[in-house]
Amino acid sequence: MKRKPEEAKKFELRMSCEAARRIRQHARSSIKAEVCGVLIGDEDHGVTSVEASIPGANATQGGSHVTFTQDTWEHIYRIKDRDYPEARIVGWYHSHPGFGVFLSDHDTFIHKNFFSAPRQVAWVYDPHSDEEGCFGWVGEKLERIPQIVFVDNKGGEGAGETGKPEPLLPGSGGDEADSDFDRVNEFRHPPNEGRAMLNAAVTVISYISALLIGFLLSWFLFPRLVLVPVDSRTGQPLYGIPSNSLSGSRSGADEGTVNSPAPQSTNPAPPPQGTKGKP
Ligand SMILES: [Zn+2]
Repeated sequence: MKRKPEEAKKFELRMSCEAARRIRQHARSSIKAEVCGVLIGDEDHGVTSVEASIPGANATQGGSHVTFTQDTWEHIYRIKDRDYPEARIVGWYHSHPGFGVFLSDHDTFIHKNFFSAPRQVAWVYDPHSDEEGCFGWVGEKLERIPQIVFVDNKGGEGAGETGKPEPLLPGSGGDEADSDFDRVNEFRHPPNEGRAMLNAAVTVISYISALLIGFLLSWFLFPRLVLVPVDSRTGQPLYGIPSNSLSGSRSGADEGTVNSPAPQSTNPAPPPQGTKGKP
């Protein structure tokens, strides 16, 4: 086979990521029978651009190959006139569920009869292996195109500007760390539950420390009040506390605050002196 590399190289195909995705989706919808459709786009300066695709409804599926029937074409043109009136049909696609990417004799027949323009292409996708490829005219022959450029129409969109958060995977909120990300995150920060308990413990400990410090400060800085029950008549402490432990060791300031009535005040009040005798 005399291949002319420069000729094959000249064939440039630009494939929209969205169109390719829809073709794959259509092919996966039928995992046993072939599906087909047409490629919508444009041809400009030797570049074939695929912008969209139209699934071929009512295409007869006989065994391993598809056929574009009259119904199929009517359906395709109805959609094209409605959705892509300015675009052109730049080729077709079909699936090879489980038997690889190539053009059979039947496929070549379809291409020669319906897509014979020089820049029309045949896209083939195998939904079992995800292999895909495209064939186009190189001179008089159909060849697999060596270079396909995928074009993302959302290109230029700023990263992180969509404002969409990553959805939480089911079960990721539980105690199992499912992904590496979770494991790394857990390594850096303890889990939420542990962190909350740690915070509560720190709060309680700090309150207790403040109380202890306050108590100790007041114990050493301020005069101590000792409340001792005393006998109201003798002025002596009750409950067997020796009286010299009160008067001997305490400072004068302390004594004044002891809640003990003065001995003289405990004496029964003398009878009023100024009473006039009763007649
Ligand atoms: Zn085929």
